[in-house]
Amino acid sequence: MPLSLRVDALRWREHLRSYVAAHPEVVPVVKGNGYGLGRRRLAQEATALDVRTLAVGTYEEIPDVTDAFAGDLLVLTPWRPGAGGAPAVDDPRVIHTVSRPEDARALTGSGARIVLEVLTSVRRHGITLGRLGEALGHLDGVSFEGWALHLPLAGDRQQEAQRLVRALPDAGRTATAVWASHLDAAGATSLAETTATPVRLRVGTALWLGDRAALHAKASVLDVHRLRRGESYGYRQRRSRTASTLLVVAGGTAHGVGLEAPSAAGTARQRVLALSRGGLAATGRTPSPFTVGGRRAWFAEPPHMQCSLLWLPDSVEPPAVGNEVDVEVRFTTTLFDRIELTG
Ligand SMILES: *Cc1c(COP(=O)(O)O)cnc(C)c1O
Repeated sequence: MPLSLRVDALRWREHLRSYVAAHPEVVPVVKGNGYGLGRRRLAQEATALDVRTLAVGTYEEIPDVTDAFAGDLLVLTPWRPGAGGAPAVDDPRVIHTVSRPEDARALTGSGARIVLEVLTSVRRHGITLGRLGEALGHLDGVSFEGWALHLPLAGDRQQEAQRLVRALPDAGRTATAVWASHLDAAGATSLAETTATPVRLRVGTALWLGDRAALHAKASVLDVHRLRRGESYGYRQRRSRTASTLLVVAGGTAHGVGLEAPSAAGTARQRVLALSRGGLAATGRTPSPFTVGGRRAWFAEPPHMQCSLLWLPDSVEPPAVGNEVDVEVRFTTTLFDRIELTG
């Protein structure tokens, strides 16, 4: 009785293959919850895609992918001295991201494979242009595998990438590659031309979740209860204002459903907006991500740990126990009970 992800495998894999074929070297990113599909499964798919390098988010994620993927592993979180749980710093499969000159200095002579992350307008991690020369000065006895650029999703990232690589020491030509995120095929190609260096695209969302129509999130209907007017229900013992139906569906906080904290309507302005809509939201009901009978269903109360209570007006035909309803999820925050590849 689960929250399920159905993957139309033929269609999904066709998208994966065509994405890889249409771009310069793709470095699939497998991190966090594996974009809803799981890190290990994605590592297996990356093996089938025949890519050279896989990117993981953290050192802690490495053990999940090492069996399923035999190539190089780029760690996106920057290396820091004493990085707990890290493999040997000179593990020949691991490429470390170095984001501070002092970390480059700490790795001098270690035999580590590294990329130097350049600070972009995202301002997450990275070495400012002015200190790149200093970092380059510490690369004796390490294998320098390129520059890394983490570009924003908004703004002209194309232009930013070009501006940054032109400002790199030796215009980037000291490196064997530029590892970029969030560039399209044309952007990557022109970056490769500017730097006369291969570009490797670190891609997660556009690859794994790029064809949403191949992915169907479904919630089992666990129970259906008739409610008379005035009857109470739920942890919060709200009362039904009309005769209606209470639907219990799979999918709760443990699955990442309802992180929007439904009735905790944040600001006063949001509450006023809800009131002015005169809708159920003002009484504590908020739209749920579940679709029942072609319509977005209301939460009867905030999601429980593994299921949610939905309120159906009598105008909606309730589904039967054991049926499934569609649920709109954010894949990067959803933990499915079951993932089924078909086709
Ligand atoms: C997570 C991450 C990516 C992948 O991001 P998507 O938006 O999922 O493609 C790429 N580069 C870096 C540095 C990341 O941390």
